[in-house]
Amino acid sequence: MEEHNHPAPEEGPEEYQPSLMASRVPIPKLFQSVEKEGLFTECIQCGGNLLDSGRQYVIEKVFRGTEPIIELAMCLNCRDDSGECMSEESAEAMQTFFESRASFSDRLYQLLLRRQADSEQESIDDWVDQCLFSGQPRSEMREFQVVALCSGGEIIRDFFPIMISGEIMDEIAEVLSEQTKGWMDDFIETNFGMPPEFCEPPGFRPVLI
Ligand SMILES: [Zn+2]
Repeated sequence: MEEHNHPAPEEGPEEYQPSLMASRVPIPKLFQSVEKEGLFTECIQCGGNLLDSGRQYVIEKVFRGTEPIIELAMCLNCRDDSGECMSEESAEAMQTFFESRASFSDRLYQLLLRRQADSEQESIDDWVDQCLFSGQPRSEMREFQVVALCSGGEIIRDFFPIMISGEIMDEIAEVLSEQTKGWMDDFIETNFGMPPEFCEPPGFRPVLI
């Protein structure tokens, strides 16, 4: 009998399936673009429109003090493609880091408790006031990174958004392969014109989550 290899149908990236406690709030200033003086409108990689499509996308910003030194929004298509630039070893190491240091269900539970006591229903403060891994308050940090999953002009509040201290960013960088770090450095230099050596103190290296 003749066998045919059917190519897999062309599929877009899998969208994140929010948990039952997920909610959406307008994107606050922390996750807006300083350069665009408002919402991010297009993907940094493909230039695709982020606001009209209704597709999910990711926003990442790295701050030093109150100054954002890196800011980007990326559609999930490009996110998938850039994930392929990461070595398998690094992807596994980052996943292990997340799973061993943060509990998805504990975080959702803690956030739910805090939200019930919170009168500020539209706020994302409970999500990003403390480092996801160390619990250190943001007010005590020199560098920190925030990551959010968005759709249109809204943030999806669930496990994300998250905030990570500069110290933890360094710890994550340590588990990545040289190849992956090289790719991230190139990405940052290409898009932000800032060679990683400019990131003082020495050793501080933004990572793409
Ligand atoms: Zn894109």
